[in-house]
Amino acid sequence: MPEFALIERLARAIPSRGPGVDLGIGDDAAVLAPEPGKRLAISSDTLNEGVHFLPGADPEALGHKALAVNLSDLAAMGAEPRWALLNLTLPEADADWLDAFARGFAGLATAHELALVGGDTTQGPLSLTVTVLGSLPAQGGLTRSGAGAGDRVFVSGTLGDAAYALGRRQAGVGDSAADLSGTDAALDRPSPRLALGQGLLRHATACIDVSDGLLADLGHVARASGLSAELELASLPGSETLLALPETQRWDLQLCGGDDYELCFTAPPERREAILALGEQLGLPLTEIGFMAATDGAASGAGGEATPAGHGLEPGGNVRCRRPDGSDYTPARPAWEHFSRPGLSGP
Ligand code: ADP
Ligand code: MG
Repeated sequence: MPEFALIERLARAIPSRGPGVDLGIGDDAAVLAPEPGKRLAISSDTLNEGVHFLPGADPEALGHKALAVNLSDLAAMGAEPRWALLNLTLPEADADWLDAFARGFAGLATAHELALVGGDTTQGPLSLTVTVLGSLPAQGGLTRSGAGAGDRVFVSGTLGDAAYALGRRQAGVGDSAADLSGTDAALDRPSPRLALGQGLLRHATACIDVSDGLLADLGHVARASGLSAELELASLPGSETLLALPETQRWDLQLCGGDDYELCFTAPPERREAILALGEQLGLPLTEIGFMAATDGAASGAGGEATPAGHGLEPGGNVRCRRPDGSDYTPARPAWEHFSRPGLSGP
């Protein structure tokens, strides 16, 4: 299939028109009209075969996930998704693969009223880059740096399922990719928490999506906010499958596994009731899992000193984990980081 036919096939399968799309796929650039008085939030993520997903992965699941991991970043900022760009590098122009990929992408794009407005298509080892643009109010928004000492830490949904499913799949004992129940669904079909992120604009002081593992990602919030964090391991929300695992195996998956795409956020204690009510309204469990504290000498030891108004690029700030008996716990596995170890994880 020639390149133009491939692009046309994608543009037919994925919604490519919508509010604010003055010019979409087909010209040298898309022309977009953001809503007056709003700001744009923009984010981009790449999934590489062999790094972020196993060779031979189900293309429909990949289409969903390539968009989902990007929408999760918009969710963490409290933005409403509007438009996306898709850069596809494919080893070959396989029509069946492309149709399945487009189905997965289109399902999520339709659900969130997002239009695909452009991209690029090249030949090479399989790699998927999606760029999303979302709308933010003129004021406010969620960042990593706004947490205050004494704020409570919350997380949405459950943690650890995706890492558990990946471990099983790598060991050759995973369920089939078509099985959308259980832990495989968390790995293949993460649900970006967009409605939650938008609702949190009224309540949260800081927010991040959990892609590299809770410990690393909450560490980014702590560092950017110039604080440390403390987690109660007993309160980490888990699926029935995760809760049935030995404690330390579960904690390690939940703290360091990554690929969860839940939102972790902070808010003052007096916001707790409103936050739990928001969770009820969305049908999404929100769990208080710890608190933020001023960085003292003892707390900054393991993770380095916090920098006020950090830009979020440094290694994470200190996060201390408490076992149910009150003692400290340090996970056995390191957090995911590119260029530091081989393996598979989230972007
Ligand atoms: P150019 O050579 O001018 O960059 P291309 O042939 O790369 O143009 O792309 C033609 C049109 O198709 C552009 O509007 C581009 O944004 C769009 N496009 C190319 N690849 C994709 C893709 N994978 N997904 C969505 N749109 C794409
Ligand atoms: Mg091009």
